[in-house]
Amino acid sequence: MTYHSQTTSVRAGINHDTQFGAVTPPVHLSSNFSFAGLGVSRQYDYTRTGNPTRDLLADALAELEGGAGAVVTSSGMSALTLLTFLVKQGQRIIAPHDCYGGTFRLLNALKTQGKIDVSYVDYSDLHQLSFLLSHGVALAIVETPSNPLLRVVDIQAIAQLCRHNRTLLAVDNTFLSPAIQNPIKWGADFVIHSTTKYINGHSDVVGGAVIAKTKEHAEELAWWANCLGLTGSPFDSFLTLRGLRTLGPRIKVHLTNTDRIVKALQNHPAVKKVFYPGLPNHPGHEFARKQQQGFGAIVSFETTSDSHKLNEFFSSLKLFTLAESLGGVESLIAHPATMTHASMTAEARQLAGISEGLIRLSIGVEDAEDLVQDLEQGLDKIYPKSRIYPQIHSSILTIDL
Ligand code: PLP
Repeated sequence: MTYHSQTTSVRAGINHDTQFGAVTPPVHLSSNFSFAGLGVSRQYDYTRTGNPTRDLLADALAELEGGAGAVVTSSGMSALTLLTFLVKQGQRIIAPHDCYGGTFRLLNALKTQGKIDVSYVDYSDLHQLSFLLSHGVALAIVETPSNPLLRVVDIQAIAQLCRHNRTLLAVDNTFLSPAIQNPIKWGADFVIHSTTKYINGHSDVVGGAVIAKTKEHAEELAWWANCLGLTGSPFDSFLTLRGLRTLGPRIKVHLTNTDRIVKALQNHPAVKKVFYPGLPNHPGHEFARKQQQGFGAIVSFETTSDSHKLNEFFSSLKLFTLAESLGGVESLIAHPATMTHASMTAEARQLAGISEGLIRLSIGVEDAEDLVQDLEQGLDKIYPKSRIYPQIHSSILTIDL
């Protein structure tokens, strides 16, 4: 029997303990496991290779993403590193022109060392993609929605082109989690997660995972993860599994809070532009409606402010912590130009559409009205809401979970 994803998340490993009948699975911290006798190994022998606690998390993630197997890694970056080992010397990987900075750094470093060839592509331009793929690409990495402008691309159309050109497709699903998007369903061969974000959800673990559509790829990834020593720790796996149990209800609150906040931002005169796939005028809105079960809980916006007032805005907030990362229960605010995207040149940021005034929110699960009040009092520092202003915004659409 197959269950709804919320049931899978909650029940992963529950009532599996045959020794004591522990309802919640115990954490197996042991680095090694005894042999039953000379030459007679048990299911596990050494934790880098395999661990019962980590396997529970891997099995749950594989089931949630509709894959044949998963490898749990020590970080999102080690998940991406692992994937690059499926590509042979000199072969090409393509990635989004606006991909996560860590992915950009990794691929560029591998290219500089002569290990792989790398090209960056705008995945919304299927002609450009088709041209690149026809010249031989071993692996295509996609991020949708992108960071921080929440660009959404059509996974199904990209997967069709990749299949036609014998290119493997990996989708980084970190920004949405398996509760909102399942790329394998749309034709991806792999799903990548920084489990640091929504899957763990409590900002107390750095972890990652690669989920493979086929058993053969899952086995190949497990072999490399053991060979390279990229597998996640049992205690991190235990915490992440605990976080995963509440993924469904957390996402529901994230989404309703985000809906409320997007409306408040749209109605505030200090806000010039809101970037959110839930808005009908967002260029990726239709793709998001097709392939997502919700529009996510990351919102970016630009204000009408100069940098002095922006400073006042940031320092007046009580419920949005100025920090990088995302996907935790607590709300965060980030200034991409000086934080997450500071390593890009000003010119590169401009090309990517990241203005100096852009602000990114990771909306948590606090009370929505408290969050709105906090943001509004901050935005009032830039332009008081009480002043008269024109109302020109379009309304948000929601997708029922
Ligand atoms: N992929 C995306 C989309 C990310 O946002 C991040 C981190 O922010 C990563 C991968 C890397 O994950 P980690 O920080 O867990 O190594």
